[in-house]
Amino acid sequence: MPETSLIELKKVSKTFTLDSGNQIRVLDNIDLNLYPGEIVALLGPSGSGKSTCLRIMAGLMEKTNGEVFVNGKPSRGANQNVALVFQSFALFPWETVFENIALALEPLNLHSEEVKKRVKKVIDMVGLEGFEEAYPRELSGGMKQRVGIARALVMERSVLLLDEPFSALDILTADSLRNEIVEIFQSQQTATRGVLVVTHHIHEAVNMAHRILVMGVNPGHIRGQVINDLPYPRNDSSPAFSQMVDRVHSLVTETLMPDVPKVEAGLGNTETATREATLRVLPNVSVSEVIGLLETIHANGGTADIFKLGHQIEKDFGYTLFLVKAAEILELVDTPKQKVILTDLGRHLVEGDINVQKRMLHELYGELSLVNEVAQLLRQSPTLRLPVDLVIEKLTEWLPNENPNDLLSSLITWGRFAEYFGYNDDTKELYLDVGQETT
Ligand code: ADP
Ligand code: MG
Repeated sequence: MPETSLIELKKVSKTFTLDSGNQIRVLDNIDLNLYPGEIVALLGPSGSGKSTCLRIMAGLMEKTNGEVFVNGKPSRGANQNVALVFQSFALFPWETVFENIALALEPLNLHSEEVKKRVKKVIDMVGLEGFEEAYPRELSGGMKQRVGIARALVMERSVLLLDEPFSALDILTADSLRNEIVEIFQSQQTATRGVLVVTHHIHEAVNMAHRILVMGVNPGHIRGQVINDLPYPRNDSSPAFSQMVDRVHSLVTETLMPDVPKVEAGLGNTETATREATLRVLPNVSVSEVIGLLETIHANGGTADIFKLGHQIEKDFGYTLFLVKAAEILELVDTPKQKVILTDLGRHLVEGDINVQKRMLHELYGELSLVNEVAQLLRQSPTLRLPVDLVIEKLTEWLPNENPNDLLSSLITWGRFAEYFGYNDDTKELYLDVGQETT
Protein backbone atom coordinates (compact mmCIF):
# COMPACT_ATOMS: atom_id res chain seq x y z
CA MET A 1 0.00 0.00 0.00
CA PRO A 2 1.31 3.42 -0.92
CA GLU A 3 -0.31 5.22 1.98
CA THR A 4 1.46 6.23 5.15
CA SER A 5 0.84 3.90 8.08
CA LEU A 6 -1.29 5.20 10.89
CA ILE A 7 1.14 3.37 13.16
CA GLU A 8 4.25 1.47 12.32
CA LEU A 9 6.51 -0.62 14.49
CA LYS A 10 9.90 -1.08 12.90
CA LYS A 11 12.22 -3.75 14.28
CA VAL A 12 10.78 -3.25 17.71
CA SER A 13 12.10 -5.40 20.53
CA LYS A 14 11.22 -5.43 24.19
CA THR A 15 13.14 -6.87 27.10
CA PHE A 16 11.84 -6.81 30.66
CA THR A 17 14.11 -6.78 33.64
CA LEU A 18 12.61 -8.91 36.38
CA ASP A 19 12.86 -8.14 40.09
CA SER A 20 15.60 -10.73 40.34
CA GLY A 21 17.63 -8.66 37.90
CA ASN A 22 17.18 -11.26 35.19
CA GLN A 23 16.16 -10.13 31.75
CA ILE A 24 13.48 -11.65 29.63
CA ARG A 25 13.01 -10.84 25.97
CA VAL A 26 9.35 -10.82 25.03
CA LEU A 27 9.35 -9.13 21.62
CA ASP A 28 11.87 -9.68 18.89
CA ASN A 29 12.16 -7.53 15.80
CA ILE A 30 8.50 -6.74 15.35
CA ASP A 31 7.61 -5.12 12.02
CA LEU A 32 4.00 -4.08 11.94
CA ASN A 33 1.97 -1.55 9.99
CA LEU A 34 -1.58 -0.38 10.34
CA TYR A 35 -2.80 1.40 7.22
CA PRO A 36 -5.84 3.65 6.86
CA GLY A 37 -9.04 1.71 6.22
CA GLU A 38 -7.73 -1.51 7.69
CA ILE A 39 -8.72 -3.85 10.44
CA VAL A 40 -5.68 -5.90 11.38
CA ALA A 41 -5.77 -8.83 13.77
CA LEU A 42 -2.80 -9.76 15.90
CA LEU A 43 -3.24 -13.44 16.63
CA GLY A 44 -1.07 -15.39 19.00
CA PRO A 45 -1.05 -17.63 22.04
CA SER A 46 -1.02 -16.04 25.44
CA GLY A 47 2.41 -14.83 26.40
CA SER A 48 3.41 -14.06 22.82
CA GLY A 49 3.61 -10.37 23.60
CA LYS A 50 0.41 -9.12 21.97
CA SER A 51 -0.51 -6.79 24.80
CA THR A 52 3.06 -5.57 25.01
CA CYS A 53 2.90 -4.67 21.31
CA LEU A 54 -0.27 -2.71 21.90
CA ARG A 55 1.15 -0.87 24.89
CA ILE A 56 4.17 0.13 22.85
CA MET A 57 1.93 1.32 20.00
CA ALA A 58 -0.12 3.35 22.45
CA GLY A 59 3.07 4.80 23.88
CA LEU A 60 2.20 3.44 27.32
CA MET A 61 5.42 1.46 27.38
CA GLU A 62 8.89 2.13 26.02
CA LYS A 63 10.35 -0.24 23.47
CA THR A 64 13.85 -1.53 24.11
CA ASN A 65 14.97 -1.29 20.49
CA GLY A 66 13.52 -0.21 17.19
CA GLU A 67 11.27 2.63 16.15
CA VAL A 68 7.63 3.60 16.45
CA PHE A 69 6.19 5.81 13.72
CA VAL A 70 2.87 7.59 13.91
CA ASN A 71 1.63 8.88 10.55
CA GLY A 72 5.13 8.38 9.24
CA LYS A 73 6.86 10.39 11.96
CA PRO A 74 8.99 8.97 14.76
CA SER A 75 6.98 8.96 17.96
CA ARG A 76 7.85 9.06 21.64
CA GLY A 77 5.67 8.99 24.72
CA ALA A 78 1.89 8.69 24.81
CA ASN A 79 0.37 8.39 21.37
CA GLN A 80 -2.49 10.88 21.12
CA ASN A 81 -3.90 9.17 18.03
CA VAL A 82 -4.96 5.94 19.68
CA ALA A 83 -7.78 4.80 21.90
CA LEU A 84 -7.51 1.49 23.72
CA VAL A 85 -10.12 -1.02 24.79
CA PHE A 86 -9.17 -3.83 27.16
CA GLN A 87 -10.83 -7.13 27.96
CA SER A 88 -12.20 -5.70 31.13
CA PHE A 89 -11.53 -2.38 32.64
CA ALA A 90 -12.73 -0.29 35.49
CA LEU A 91 -15.95 1.63 35.20
CA PHE A 92 -16.57 4.06 38.00
CA PRO A 93 -19.35 2.39 40.01
CA TRP A 94 -20.72 5.65 41.37
CA GLU A 95 -21.02 7.26 37.93
CA THR A 96 -23.74 6.63 35.36
CA VAL A 97 -23.10 5.23 31.90
CA PHE A 98 -23.27 8.72 30.46
CA GLU A 99 -20.75 10.06 32.95
CA ASN A 100 -18.46 7.08 32.58
CA ILE A 101 -18.20 7.82 28.88
CA ALA A 102 -17.99 11.57 29.30
CA LEU A 103 -15.03 11.15 31.65
CA ALA A 104 -12.86 10.24 28.69
CA LEU A 105 -13.38 13.76 27.36
CA GLU A 106 -12.47 15.52 30.57
CA PRO A 107 -8.87 16.31 29.58
CA LEU A 108 -10.12 18.08 26.44
CA ASN A 109 -12.04 20.73 28.42
CA LEU A 110 -14.85 20.77 25.90
CA HIS A 111 -18.00 22.82 26.24
CA SER A 112 -20.70 20.80 28.02
CA GLU A 113 -22.94 20.94 24.94
CA GLU A 114 -20.19 19.44 22.81
CA VAL A 115 -19.62 16.71 25.43
CA LYS A 116 -23.33 15.88 25.42
CA LYS A 117 -23.43 15.75 21.66
CA ARG A 118 -20.44 13.47 21.37
CA VAL A 119 -21.50 11.14 24.16
CA LYS A 120 -25.02 10.90 22.79
CA LYS A 121 -23.67 9.98 19.38
CA VAL A 122 -21.53 7.10 20.62
CA ILE A 123 -24.24 5.88 22.98
CA ASP A 124 -26.52 5.45 19.99
CA MET A 125 -23.77 3.88 17.96
CA VAL A 126 -22.93 1.13 20.43
CA GLY A 127 -26.53 0.40 21.38
CA LEU A 128 -26.65 1.88 24.85
CA GLU A 129 -29.74 4.03 24.29
CA GLY A 130 -31.95 3.97 27.34
CA PHE A 131 -29.03 3.10 29.63
CA GLU A 132 -27.62 6.61 29.91
CA GLU A 133 -28.59 6.94 33.56
CA ALA A 134 -27.87 3.35 34.56
CA TYR A 135 -25.03 2.49 36.93
CA PRO A 136 -22.40 -0.13 36.08
CA ARG A 137 -23.78 -2.64 38.61
CA GLU A 138 -27.05 -2.67 36.68
CA LEU A 139 -25.31 -3.69 33.44
CA SER A 140 -24.50 -7.09 31.97
CA GLY A 141 -20.93 -7.88 30.91
CA GLY A 142 -21.78 -7.13 27.30
CA MET A 143 -23.30 -3.76 28.17
CA LYS A 144 -20.29 -2.85 30.28
CA GLN A 145 -18.02 -3.63 27.37
CA ARG A 146 -20.17 -1.38 25.20
CA VAL A 147 -19.45 1.40 27.64
CA GLY A 148 -15.74 0.63 27.25
CA ILE A 149 -16.01 0.81 23.48
CA ALA A 150 -18.07 3.99 23.63
CA ARG A 151 -15.47 5.51 25.89
CA ALA A 152 -12.80 4.76 23.30
CA LEU A 153 -14.88 6.00 20.35
CA VAL A 154 -15.92 9.23 22.01
CA MET A 155 -12.30 10.38 22.01
CA GLU A 156 -12.40 10.47 18.21
CA ARG A 157 -8.92 9.10 17.79
CA SER A 158 -7.81 7.76 14.43
CA VAL A 159 -6.66 4.38 15.71
CA LEU A 160 -8.62 1.95 17.81
CA LEU A 161 -6.59 -0.72 19.61
CA LEU A 162 -8.64 -3.58 20.99
CA ASP A 163 -6.98 -6.01 23.40
CA GLU A 164 -9.03 -9.22 23.54
CA PRO A 165 -12.12 -7.08 23.92
CA PHE A 166 -14.65 -9.89 23.68
CA SER A 167 -12.96 -12.67 25.59
CA ALA A 168 -14.79 -12.05 28.84
CA LEU A 169 -18.19 -12.17 27.14
CA ASP A 170 -20.46 -15.08 26.35
CA ILE A 171 -20.36 -16.30 22.75
CA LEU A 172 -23.54 -14.67 21.49
CA THR A 173 -22.76 -11.31 23.02
CA ALA A 174 -19.23 -11.48 21.68
CA ASP A 175 -20.52 -12.30 18.19
CA SER A 176 -22.89 -9.41 18.00
CA LEU A 177 -20.51 -6.89 19.52
CA ARG A 178 -17.79 -7.98 17.11
CA ASN A 179 -20.07 -7.47 14.13
CA GLU A 180 -21.20 -4.13 15.43
CA ILE A 181 -17.64 -2.91 15.76
CA VAL A 182 -16.90 -3.88 12.18
CA GLU A 183 -20.10 -2.14 11.03
CA ILE A 184 -19.37 1.01 12.98
CA PHE A 185 -15.88 1.13 11.54
CA GLN A 186 -17.07 0.61 8.00
CA SER A 187 -19.91 3.10 8.26
CA GLN A 188 -17.23 5.77 8.76
CA GLN A 189 -19.38 7.54 11.30
CA THR A 190 -16.43 7.74 13.63
CA ALA A 191 -12.97 9.22 13.54
CA THR A 192 -11.50 5.72 13.58
CA ARG A 193 -9.39 5.11 10.49
CA GLY A 194 -7.71 1.90 11.51
CA VAL A 195 -8.36 -0.90 13.96
CA LEU A 196 -5.91 -3.35 15.48
CA VAL A 197 -7.56 -6.17 17.34
CA VAL A 198 -5.62 -8.56 19.53
CA THR A 199 -7.08 -12.01 19.87
CA HIS A 200 -6.18 -15.61 20.39
CA HIS A 201 -9.27 -16.84 18.58
CA ILE A 202 -8.73 -17.68 14.93
CA HIS A 203 -12.44 -17.32 14.25
CA GLU A 204 -12.50 -13.83 15.62
CA ALA A 205 -9.52 -12.81 13.53
CA VAL A 206 -11.04 -14.24 10.35
CA ASN A 207 -14.35 -12.62 11.16
CA MET A 208 -13.01 -9.13 11.61
CA ALA A 209 -9.73 -8.52 9.90
CA HIS A 210 -8.44 -7.60 6.46
CA ARG A 211 -5.02 -8.89 7.49
CA ILE A 212 -4.11 -11.40 10.16
CA LEU A 213 -0.66 -11.34 11.69
CA VAL A 214 0.26 -14.56 13.41
CA MET A 215 2.65 -14.32 16.31
CA GLY A 216 5.00 -16.97 17.62
CA VAL A 217 6.46 -17.21 21.09
CA ASN A 218 9.81 -17.19 22.85
CA PRO A 219 10.47 -14.44 22.17
CA GLY A 220 7.31 -13.00 20.61
CA HIS A 221 7.77 -12.46 16.88
CA ILE A 222 5.60 -12.16 13.80
CA ARG A 223 5.53 -15.47 12.11
CA GLY A 224 3.60 -14.53 9.04
CA GLN A 225 0.51 -12.86 7.70
CA VAL A 226 -2.64 -13.97 5.99
CA ILE A 227 -4.52 -11.53 3.76
CA ASN A 228 -8.22 -11.98 4.32
CA ASP A 229 -10.19 -10.54 1.43
CA LEU A 230 -13.55 -12.12 2.25
CA PRO A 231 -16.32 -9.60 1.72
CA TYR A 232 -18.12 -8.05 4.68
CA PRO A 233 -20.42 -8.84 6.35
CA ARG A 234 -18.71 -12.16 6.73
CA ASN A 235 -20.66 -15.34 6.81
CA ASP A 236 -18.93 -17.79 9.09
CA SER A 237 -20.85 -20.74 7.72
CA SER A 238 -19.60 -20.21 4.16
CA PRO A 239 -16.99 -22.57 2.67
CA ALA A 240 -14.73 -19.61 1.90
CA PHE A 241 -14.78 -18.67 5.57
CA SER A 242 -13.81 -22.20 6.62
CA GLN A 243 -11.02 -22.20 4.07
CA MET A 244 -9.66 -18.98 5.48
CA VAL A 245 -9.88 -20.41 9.00
CA ASP A 246 -7.93 -23.45 7.80
CA ARG A 247 -5.23 -21.29 6.25
CA VAL A 248 -4.75 -19.39 9.45
CA HIS A 249 -4.91 -22.62 11.44
CA SER A 250 -2.05 -24.05 9.42
CA LEU A 251 0.11 -21.02 10.01
CA VAL A 252 -0.65 -21.13 13.73
CA THR A 253 0.09 -24.85 13.88
CA GLU A 254 3.42 -24.35 12.18
CA THR A 255 4.16 -21.59 14.61
CA LEU A 256 3.64 -23.67 17.69
CA MET A 257 4.78 -27.01 16.37
CA PRO A 258 7.24 -26.63 13.56
CA ASP A 259 7.72 -29.98 11.82
CA VAL A 260 11.40 -29.15 11.53
CA PRO A 261 13.28 -28.41 14.73
CA LYS A 262 14.84 -24.97 14.94
CA VAL A 263 18.47 -26.03 14.68
CA GLU A 264 18.00 -28.14 11.59
CA ALA A 265 16.17 -25.28 9.97
CA GLY A 266 19.46 -23.44 10.13
CA LEU A 267 18.14 -20.73 12.38
CA GLY A 268 21.53 -20.39 13.94
CA ASN A 269 23.94 -22.80 15.45
CA THR A 270 24.75 -20.65 18.36
CA GLU A 271 25.09 -22.38 21.67
CA THR A 272 21.79 -20.97 22.89
CA ALA A 273 19.85 -22.27 19.92
CA THR A 274 21.29 -25.75 20.31
CA ARG A 275 20.67 -25.67 23.98
CA GLU A 276 17.07 -24.63 23.53
CA ALA A 277 16.46 -27.38 21.05
CA THR A 278 17.74 -29.96 23.48
CA LEU A 279 16.23 -28.44 26.59
CA ARG A 280 12.70 -28.96 25.39
CA VAL A 281 10.32 -27.31 27.72
CA LEU A 282 7.01 -28.80 28.72
CA PRO A 283 4.25 -26.26 28.35
CA ASN A 284 2.81 -25.16 31.64
CA VAL A 285 -0.45 -27.06 31.27
CA SER A 286 -2.33 -29.35 33.59
CA VAL A 287 -1.24 -32.99 33.54
CA SER A 288 -4.77 -34.27 33.88
CA GLU A 289 -5.82 -32.25 30.84
CA VAL A 290 -3.04 -33.87 28.83
CA ILE A 291 -4.26 -37.26 29.96
CA GLY A 292 -7.80 -36.21 29.06
CA LEU A 293 -6.57 -35.27 25.61
CA LEU A 294 -4.95 -38.68 25.17
CA GLU A 295 -8.18 -40.35 26.26
CA THR A 296 -10.12 -38.38 23.67
CA ILE A 297 -7.72 -39.40 20.92
CA HIS A 298 -7.89 -43.00 22.12
CA ALA A 299 -11.69 -42.87 21.98
CA ASN A 300 -11.36 -41.63 18.38
CA GLY A 301 -9.45 -44.76 17.51
CA GLY A 302 -5.98 -43.38 18.15
CA THR A 303 -5.96 -40.60 15.56
CA ALA A 304 -7.45 -37.15 15.64
CA ASP A 305 -7.54 -34.03 13.55
CA ILE A 306 -5.92 -31.28 15.54
CA PHE A 307 -8.65 -28.74 14.71
CA LYS A 308 -11.48 -31.03 15.69
CA LEU A 309 -9.73 -32.06 18.85
CA GLY A 310 -10.10 -28.57 20.32
CA HIS A 311 -13.85 -28.72 19.88
CA GLN A 312 -14.02 -32.18 21.36
CA ILE A 313 -12.17 -31.27 24.51
CA GLU A 314 -13.84 -27.85 24.62
CA LYS A 315 -10.64 -25.86 24.72
CA ASP A 316 -9.59 -23.04 22.46
CA PHE A 317 -7.23 -23.92 19.68
CA GLY A 318 -4.15 -22.28 21.17
CA TYR A 319 -4.53 -24.13 24.43
CA THR A 320 -5.21 -27.42 22.65
CA LEU A 321 -1.92 -26.99 20.83
CA PHE A 322 -0.07 -26.58 24.10
CA LEU A 323 -1.63 -29.80 25.38
CA VAL A 324 -0.66 -31.60 22.18
CA LYS A 325 2.83 -30.17 22.38
CA ALA A 326 3.25 -31.45 25.92
CA ALA A 327 2.10 -34.91 24.84
CA GLU A 328 4.45 -34.77 21.87
CA ILE A 329 7.48 -33.85 23.96
CA LEU A 330 6.77 -36.83 26.17
CA GLU A 331 6.53 -38.97 23.03
CA LEU A 332 2.95 -39.92 23.78
CA VAL A 333 1.74 -38.65 20.40
CA ASP A 334 3.11 -37.97 16.93
CA THR A 335 1.98 -34.94 15.00
CA PRO A 336 2.43 -35.37 11.29
CA LYS A 337 0.91 -32.21 9.75
CA GLN A 338 -2.52 -31.64 11.26
CA LYS A 339 -2.99 -35.10 12.68
CA VAL A 340 -2.40 -36.21 16.22
CA ILE A 341 -1.64 -39.90 16.54
CA LEU A 342 -1.27 -41.81 19.76
CA THR A 343 2.08 -43.62 19.99
CA ASP A 344 2.36 -47.08 21.58
CA LEU A 345 3.52 -45.39 24.73
CA GLY A 346 0.55 -43.06 24.60
CA ARG A 347 -1.87 -45.92 24.20
CA HIS A 348 -0.23 -47.81 27.03
CA LEU A 349 -0.57 -44.79 29.27
CA VAL A 350 -4.25 -44.26 28.48
CA GLU A 351 -5.04 -47.90 29.07
CA GLY A 352 -3.19 -48.01 32.39
CA ASP A 353 -4.52 -47.09 35.80
CA ILE A 354 -3.29 -44.12 37.78
CA ASN A 355 -0.30 -46.02 39.15
CA VAL A 356 0.79 -47.08 35.71
CA GLN A 357 0.35 -43.51 34.52
CA LYS A 358 2.43 -42.10 37.33
CA ARG A 359 5.18 -44.65 36.83
CA MET A 360 5.29 -44.02 33.09
CA LEU A 361 5.29 -40.28 33.47
CA HIS A 362 8.01 -40.54 36.08
CA GLU A 363 10.20 -42.27 33.52
CA LEU A 364 9.31 -40.20 30.49
CA TYR A 365 9.58 -36.99 32.41
CA GLY A 366 12.94 -38.00 33.83
CA GLU A 367 14.30 -38.35 30.31
CA LEU A 368 13.78 -34.70 29.47
CA SER A 369 17.08 -32.92 29.49
CA LEU A 370 15.82 -29.86 31.31
CA VAL A 371 14.48 -32.09 34.04
CA ASN A 372 17.84 -33.81 34.20
CA GLU A 373 19.70 -30.55 34.47
CA VAL A 374 17.46 -29.41 37.29
CA ALA A 375 17.72 -32.77 39.04
CA GLN A 376 21.49 -32.60 38.79
CA LEU A 377 21.45 -29.13 40.23
CA LEU A 378 19.41 -30.34 43.20
CA ARG A 379 21.70 -33.31 43.69
CA GLN A 380 24.61 -30.95 44.17
CA SER A 381 22.92 -29.70 47.28
CA PRO A 382 23.53 -31.96 50.31
CA THR A 383 19.86 -31.68 51.30
CA LEU A 384 18.69 -32.27 47.70
CA ARG A 385 16.84 -28.98 47.88
CA LEU A 386 17.43 -25.43 46.72
CA PRO A 387 15.73 -22.07 47.11
CA VAL A 388 13.61 -21.39 44.01
CA ASP A 389 15.37 -18.09 43.44
CA LEU A 390 18.51 -20.02 42.72
CA VAL A 391 16.69 -22.40 40.40
CA ILE A 392 15.16 -19.44 38.58
CA GLU A 393 18.57 -17.94 38.14
CA LYS A 394 19.81 -21.13 36.52
CA LEU A 395 16.75 -21.43 34.30
CA THR A 396 17.32 -17.91 33.05
CA GLU A 397 20.91 -18.73 32.26
CA TRP A 398 19.98 -21.89 30.35
CA LEU A 399 16.94 -20.56 28.55
CA PRO A 400 17.23 -16.79 28.28
CA ASN A 401 14.22 -16.52 26.00
CA GLU A 402 11.75 -18.27 28.25
CA ASN A 403 9.89 -16.78 31.13
CA PRO A 404 11.63 -18.42 34.10
CA ASN A 405 8.55 -18.20 36.33
CA ASP A 406 6.52 -20.15 33.78
CA LEU A 407 9.32 -22.70 33.51
CA LEU A 408 9.43 -23.12 37.25
CA SER A 409 5.72 -23.49 37.55
CA SER A 410 5.72 -26.10 34.79
CA LEU A 411 8.53 -27.96 36.56
CA ILE A 412 6.53 -27.96 39.76
CA THR A 413 3.21 -29.02 38.18
CA TRP A 414 4.70 -31.84 36.13
CA GLY A 415 7.36 -32.72 38.67
CA ARG A 416 4.78 -33.22 41.39
CA PHE A 417 2.57 -35.44 39.30
CA ALA A 418 5.50 -37.52 38.10
CA GLU A 419 6.79 -37.61 41.67
CA TYR A 420 10.04 -36.19 40.50
CA PHE A 421 10.22 -32.82 42.16
CA GLY A 422 8.47 -31.37 45.12
CA TYR A 423 7.99 -27.83 46.19
CA ASN A 424 7.69 -26.50 49.69
CA ASP A 425 5.64 -23.35 49.60
CA ASP A 426 6.68 -22.28 53.12
CA THR A 427 10.40 -22.42 52.57
CA LYS A 428 10.15 -21.65 48.82
CA GLU A 429 12.38 -24.57 48.05
CA LEU A 430 12.37 -27.02 45.18
CA TYR A 431 13.46 -30.51 46.14
CA LEU A 432 14.19 -33.80 44.52
CA ASP A 433 11.39 -36.20 45.33
CA VAL A 434 13.10 -39.26 46.71
CA GLY A 435 10.35 -39.89 49.18
CA GLN A 436 11.98 -37.88 51.93
CA GLU A 437 9.21 -35.36 52.20
CA THR A 438 6.06 -37.30 51.64
CA THR A 439 3.02 -35.50 52.89
P1 ADP B 1 0.02 -11.64 25.53
O1 ADP B 1 -0.78 -10.39 25.56
O2 ADP B 1 0.33 -12.11 24.15
O3 ADP B 1 -0.58 -12.73 26.36
P2 ADP B 1 1.95 -10.11 27.03
O4 ADP B 1 2.35 -9.02 26.11
O5 ADP B 1 0.98 -9.77 28.09
O6 ADP B 1 1.45 -11.35 26.17
O7 ADP B 1 3.23 -10.71 27.73
C1 ADP B 1 4.31 -11.29 27.02
C2 ADP B 1 5.32 -11.83 27.97
O8 ADP B 1 5.91 -10.78 28.69
C3 ADP B 1 4.75 -12.78 29.01
O9 ADP B 1 5.66 -13.84 29.19
C4 ADP B 1 4.66 -11.95 30.25
O10 ADP B 1 4.83 -12.75 31.39
C5 ADP B 1 5.82 -10.99 30.07
N1 ADP B 1 5.57 -9.68 30.69
C6 ADP B 1 4.58 -8.83 30.38
N2 ADP B 1 4.67 -7.70 31.12
C7 ADP B 1 5.74 -7.86 31.91
C8 ADP B 1 6.39 -7.05 32.90
N3 ADP B 1 5.93 -5.84 33.20
N4 ADP B 1 7.49 -7.55 33.50
C9 ADP B 1 7.96 -8.77 33.19
N5 ADP B 1 7.43 -9.57 32.26
C10 ADP B 1 6.33 -9.14 31.63
MG1 MG C 1 -2.57 -9.95 26.50
